[in-house]
Amino acid sequence: MTDLLYLPDEDAVTDFEATVVEASEDSIVLDGTYFYPEGGGQPADRGTIEWDGGQASVVDVRKDHGEIHHEIDDVEGDLPEDGETATGHVDADRREAHRRMHTAQHVLSRVVLDEYDATTAGNQIHADFSRIDFEPADFDDEDLELIEARTNDVIERNLPVTKDERPRETVEANVAEGRSNLDLLPDHVEELRVVEIDNFDMCPCGGTHVDRTGEIGGIEITNRLSKGADVERIEFELREN
Ligand SMILES: [Zn+2]
Repeated sequence: MTDLLYLPDEDAVTDFEATVVEASEDSIVLDGTYFYPEGGGQPADRGTIEWDGGQASVVDVRKDHGEIHHEIDDVEGDLPEDGETATGHVDADRREAHRRMHTAQHVLSRVVLDEYDATTAGNQIHADFSRIDFEPADFDDEDLELIEARTNDVIERNLPVTKDERPRETVEANVAEGRSNLDLLPDHVEELRVVEIDNFDMCPCGGTHVDRTGEIGGIEITNRLSKGADVERIEFELREN
């Protein structure tokens, strides 16, 4: 098992030391990592891993049975030995974009739930734009203006964003209907990482997030697509921060 060191609230850390568990031509496993593995609609981090006498680019990060595999390329020097210390450097600009995007997605999803009673059926975050599918939904231009304005209001209020682990039953008792898929989680999961935007939204999520909504800067809705009878996709970008 690799320790997910960015949990519950170390989302800002991008440089760290860890011990090599296993290294091959294509992948390095460490005892703990701040690299985010692809999942929950958020792409994997990128960056580099260095060790005594060598380094490699991290081109993808995957979770496999509790182990995090840093997929590597451009290896320089000999591979590190098991037990050797390595230094990880997460691409900080890309991480920052994902943090801002992911919290923006939570804000926008909550605005739409509150205003239109539509839930988030799926989402995909990228560093440059993101999309969310809502159901049931049928937005017109005026709706999109309202959603963008309400989302930016919450961002401007600079609300604190807390990330911690909570017992599953506490989360089940407090989460708003339409803001979680707890029934999809296996029964043995008893502790959940929760992301709470102060007095606005709370939901289970393992992604990386900002510490205050003001760090998002602002969003702009750039596109709307119909994805079936009842499903609407909204695409958005971040305003320059
Ligand atoms: Zn999330």
